[in-house]
Amino acid sequence: MSETDISFRDRPINMDEKGSRKWVYAKKPKGKWYTRRTVFSWFVLLFFVGVPFIKVNGHPFILLDIASRKFILFGAIFWAQDTFILTLLMLSFVLFIVLFTVTFGRLWCGWACPQTIFLEMVFRKIEYLIEGDYRKRHKLDKGPWTGEKILKKTAKHSLFIMISIAMTNTFLLWFIGYEKWFEVIAEPIGNNLSGFLIMLIVSGFFYWVYSFFREQICTMVCPYGRMQGVLLDSKSIVVSYDYKRGEPRGAKSSGDCIDCRQCISVCPTGIDIRNGTQLECINCTACIDQCNSVMKATGKEPGLIRLDSDHGIQHGHKTIWNVRNRAYSVVLLILFSFFIYTLLTRPAIETTILRTPGLLYQENTDHTISNVYNIKIVNKTHDNIPLEIRLISHEGEIQMAGNTMDVKDQAMFESTFILFIPEGQLKSDKTEVEFGIYSNNELIETYKTSFVSP
Ligand code: SF4
Ligand code: SF4
Repeated sequence: MSETDISFRDRPINMDEKGSRKWVYAKKPKGKWYTRRTVFSWFVLLFFVGVPFIKVNGHPFILLDIASRKFILFGAIFWAQDTFILTLLMLSFVLFIVLFTVTFGRLWCGWACPQTIFLEMVFRKIEYLIEGDYRKRHKLDKGPWTGEKILKKTAKHSLFIMISIAMTNTFLLWFIGYEKWFEVIAEPIGNNLSGFLIMLIVSGFFYWVYSFFREQICTMVCPYGRMQGVLLDSKSIVVSYDYKRGEPRGAKSSGDCIDCRQCISVCPTGIDIRNGTQLECINCTACIDQCNSVMKATGKEPGLIRLDSDHGIQHGHKTIWNVRNRAYSVVLLILFSFFIYTLLTRPAIETTILRTPGLLYQENTDHTISNVYNIKIVNKTHDNIPLEIRLISHEGEIQMAGNTMDVKDQAMFESTFILFIPEGQLKSDKTEVEFGIYSNNELIETYKTSFVSP
């Protein structure tokens, strides 16, 4: 094998010996898998654009309100206090990705990752439309700046900029909700100057990624791609070249691969899948379509490149289940069940009562001692809850500062109150007191804290 043949082991395929970028002019894929991927991408794009507009009983289906530290996922509200439940959900998600990768390789990257969906199904399709397929694009890029080239490049980049701005604003909908977004854009820019500048910077970043940086996100930046080495094994189903059938390659050789290099021409990361599973392969399946069309033209069986495992290619049958993914499935099931249990059994409200910092106690003329407390109640439901606080461990009186305790849906109630306890009930300088939070005379939560006295 010549040095050139094994250069993929030393450096990314889209880089030359000096480390300079080699632009990938991928051919437009065509075939069964590309059609499936296109249809699937419509659903992913619809999900991305449509979810912020979905309401369940008048509430967002998903809202990632980082500013208020409030997250609504599938209609359920999570506050900062629910970090444990959110951690369980995130762990389940990570484990699911691991399980999926162990079983089906990097299929997520090629089919569902927003980076690939936008690059291959939005930006690249606009490029095909305006500049044509790979040969025409290559010729246009290398050619002089004619009127046609200026026109095509201006049209393409104008559309890219517009889509980048639309993408940023769609992302924004996930974080602030569409009502707030409509409010913000109706106001003069000066009212939200910092937000506007952030929007421009993010849009500029998207434009740069999809116009120039492109597949390097997958091959050089994304940490997920780098985990493949530890996640994949010989039974993982990945886009594979059947070397047993294909080799020896060449038009006059006895193997089925005629060495036409068509599989390389469609690859968005520019690799040769015949070199085996590589970090740069995003499992987009474009090479399967391309090779199948070559097999059809040469009168051979399709599937020289197919979704299969190394084990499947060596032994002629593929098995999806193995010890590793069975074990991951069990752990995932346990973790997800625990998440569901904690979600279903979490209290409707969460109360925090703490003595006001910096204040000690007050001795009153009516022979009572008083302490000042801050109270915070988070309502995790979609209903307004009228609440009342009572002292249940001692006889005493609570004087709430102003507000009635009517906690609005998905809102946080914060206030201050003074607790008076007769001196005779206090046996030491620090007494544990217990409060009851009632709604319509029903005790729904208790909270213990300390009361200081002389
Ligand atoms: S497209 Fe198929 S036949 Fe052509 S080089 Fe690739 S694997 Fe070989
Ligand atoms: S090798 Fe095939 S599946 Fe992998 S990225 Fe290239 S075209 Fe897609």
